[in-house]
Amino acid sequence: MDLRLLYRQVILEHYQNPRNKISKDNKKEYLKKRGYNPSCGDEVVIFLELKNNKIKDIKQYCSGCSICCASTSILTEELKGLMIPLAEEKISEFLKLIKGENYNEELIKGDALALKGVKDFPARINCASLSWLTCLDILKGEKDE
Ligand code: ZN
Repeated sequence: MDLRLLYRQVILEHYQNPRNKISKDNKKEYLKKRGYNPSCGDEVVIFLELKNNKIKDIKQYCSGCSICCASTSILTEELKGLMIPLAEEKISEFLKLIKGENYNEELIKGDALALKGVKDFPARINCASLSWLTCLDILKGEKDE
C-alpha cells in the first residue's frame, strides 16, 4: 500500500476517534497546561498525573485541525506509563521526526510515524508539535493554575 495513503488514514482515524480525550474544563486533579497555535487556531489542553517519576495517566483536549488533533491523540498513547526521562527523550525525538531531522528509530514507531510527512509542510509543524511541547512544559515544571 502507498505509505502516504496509509499515513493519511492513520491521521484521519485518530482525528475521528481521539484517544484519552476529555473536556477542557474537566476538574480532574491533574497537572494541566493549555497550548495555542495562532497560525492555525489549534487549541490543546494536556492533563498529566505524575507518580514516582512516571506518567501514570495522560488525558487531552484538542480543538483544531486534523494534524494537531491526531498528533495529540498519538501523544497520549505514546507517553502513558513512561518514566519521565524517557518521555522527555521521546518528545525530543518526535520533534526531530516532524522537522525532517535524524531521529532515534527505536523510540519513534507506530502511529507517530504517520506525522513524518509534516516536514514537507513547514506551516503545519506547529500543528504537529503543539501538544508535545505543551506536555514537555508540564514535565519541566510549568503548569496553569
Ligand atoms: Zn493546525
